[in-house]
Amino acid sequence: MEMVKDEIIPENQIKVAHGMVEEPLAQNPKRYWHAWVETRNRAHDWQMRMAGTGSVPIKDFYELFKPSDIQKYSPDECAKNLLKNKHHGPWHDVTESVFVESSLKELYQNAEEAFPNTAKRQYATHPVKIRHIQWVPFVGMKTLFVKGSAMNEGREYSPTIVFKKVAYHETQGLSIVTLKANDGKTYYLSPLSLENTDVLVRCNCPDFRWRFSYYNSLEKSLQGPKPKKYDRVPGSSRPPANPTESSGMCKHLMKFAQALRGSTIIG
Ligand SMILES: [Zn+2]
Repeated sequence: MEMVKDEIIPENQIKVAHGMVEEPLAQNPKRYWHAWVETRNRAHDWQMRMAGTGSVPIKDFYELFKPSDIQKYSPDECAKNLLKNKHHGPWHDVTESVFVESSLKELYQNAEEAFPNTAKRQYATHPVKIRHIQWVPFVGMKTLFVKGSAMNEGREYSPTIVFKKVAYHETQGLSIVTLKANDGKTYYLSPLSLENTDVLVRCNCPDFRWRFSYYNSLEKSLQGPKPKKYDRVPGSSRPPANPTESSGMCKHLMKFAQALRGSTIIG
């Protein structure tokens, strides 16, 4: 609150935000929890205060820090949460503190079980071609981001899989695999498993967005921002997009998971 108390801004226009941000413009950017204050269209944090920058336009702040898992509080809620939790947040349910977790195999099976009679998805992965794969390890967060480029019928989609609780090691050793990442560095890690390693997934195709992303977000297997629930237009005769409200994956993620199966980092 100190950050904004000397500025004349009505309280209802001040929001305290907590979220995961990315180290700006870094070669191999770290992500970390951060708190900042939003007032109308400006963002402030204590570092800017210390540096004498004051504030930056919210748009620039979001572009630079790419925040995700954001939760906003009014100054009043913020004070209450601080008293109740005795720490500075985050206070919302974050990706790290989850109870339901899913592996790639589970998400694949969920999608199959939710749509057993489809002629698409699990039966249509063959024409999908995975063109290149980006490997981005975040050692401090014990995660590995893997982003693919999937070509299908002349369109390009970006399936993304984030492996969680990855065991990184300093050096090579027994049962340790090496990964040459996109930053040019070599990383050592315990092999990942399609069956057991928990993942977050996302794809920018309509099938994933409309059918799965909301339900994946509920069971904490969605990478990136939580979408709105997709409801049918009232009176529509179209079948519900996902009648069993199941998490899952699209054919691009399925093909991507198949492609990863052949890589050395999957045990
Ligand atoms: Zn997709």
